[in-house]
Amino acid sequence: MPDTTAPDAVPDHVPDHLPDVAPVTARPTHAGPLATAQEQLAGAIGRLGYDAGMHAMLATPRREINVAIPLRRDDGSTELFHGFRVQHNVSRGPGKGGLRYHPAVDVDEVRALAMWMTWKCAVVELPYGGAKGGVAIDPRNYSQPELERVTRRYTSEIMPMIGPERDIMAPDIGTDAQTMAWVMDTYSVNKGYTIPGVVTGKPLEVGGSLGRATATSRGVVHSTRAALREAGLDLPDVSVAIQGFGKVGSHAADFYSDAGSRVEAVSDQYGGVYRSGGLDVPRLLTHVRTTGSVVGFEGGDPIGNEELLGLDVDVLVPAAVEGVLTHDNAGDVKARWVVEGANGPTTARADAILADRGVVVVPDILANAGGVVVSYFEWVQAQQAYWWTEAEIELRLEERMLHAYAGVAEVARRESLPMRDAALMLSVQRVAVAHRTRGLYP
Ligand code: GLU
Repeated sequence: MPDTTAPDAVPDHVPDHLPDVAPVTARPTHAGPLATAQEQLAGAIGRLGYDAGMHAMLATPRREINVAIPLRRDDGSTELFHGFRVQHNVSRGPGKGGLRYHPAVDVDEVRALAMWMTWKCAVVELPYGGAKGGVAIDPRNYSQPELERVTRRYTSEIMPMIGPERDIMAPDIGTDAQTMAWVMDTYSVNKGYTIPGVVTGKPLEVGGSLGRATATSRGVVHSTRAALREAGLDLPDVSVAIQGFGKVGSHAADFYSDAGSRVEAVSDQYGGVYRSGGLDVPRLLTHVRTTGSVVGFEGGDPIGNEELLGLDVDVLVPAAVEGVLTHDNAGDVKARWVVEGANGPTTARADAILADRGVVVVPDILANAGGVVVSYFEWVQAQQAYWWTEAEIELRLEERMLHAYAGVAEVARRESLPMRDAALMLSVQRVAVAHRTRGLYP
């Protein structure tokens, strides 16, 4: 198939007839993930030479909803939560992106995460746009029945916006396969029949895909291997530190260790552990399963989250939340590679510092795209009601990740850009080409 998204492939017969309006949300309103996302976009727009109209279109969410979610608690009292769903862009297909339950969720964070989903889906060439949802709640403080009620009410409030051809949800921080089962059930019951394609990351029993739960972590390890290869190295040659030991970090630790890397440090929100020469990851996973944290693991010494980021390891994997690598600590990073398991862990200023210091950052929209790649496989399987084997899924995931990595690396080389700028240039261009090709209605 010809690569119709190469920088020179913008068809010249397609007029650029976008309205020349001011980019209303192109300027960050406050420092945080949205400011980072907007700065990244502005950089790509500048490199691509797009006009203010295109910038405004890509800087502004296509559609967003803000809902109040009342919860009747188990003790009979009521509480109110705020929830959001943002569809950043749907030019290349339905919105796609996770649902986050975290006390710090706000609309600007969801906007940033939705924008990153647009670029992520474009980098790995999925036929999706980008979306994200969030509820400002700390799920650890609520019972399963309470979380089920919150999820069902949220789903019913955003119902007109979602659907297998409109906007497809998946797990993110604070949500899991069970959350997706509740979303799917609420949506299906209201429509009158079972619609598994409205969510991905579902339990296997209701149409989930083999390999989905570990897909993000596998993708992180595939992209690390691809980055190391450029330097003539392989996974057994390197030491790794991982910040975040949730769905992404814990499986990544397992896969790195299986592949022969020395996982020297890991951390979660409660603290971290470090052992020069490598932690015993299987024993660490057993410890986490029994205690709920990496803290207290006897096979290593305690280490703080901030200290972990500055460890003298080869590969640093931030796999927790946004904005952990900032201008304050980017100068302390000793790793040669930063592979972003989390979305938006590096601020724009930190990025510049890392680039100056020769640190290779494999950006989130590429490094952690394995999750949405297998989400796509799950959606395709659900639409066809035909299920693939785990081996097929793993193979196709690896192919797609390596292909995407090669595409980004090629732009990075050709344009002499860091990987993030190359990935953004490629993805922003793919979205812009789709937008221009469709034209404006009316
Ligand atoms: N929440 C994941 C992400 O940020 C997965 C999204 C999806 O599969 O739709 O990439």
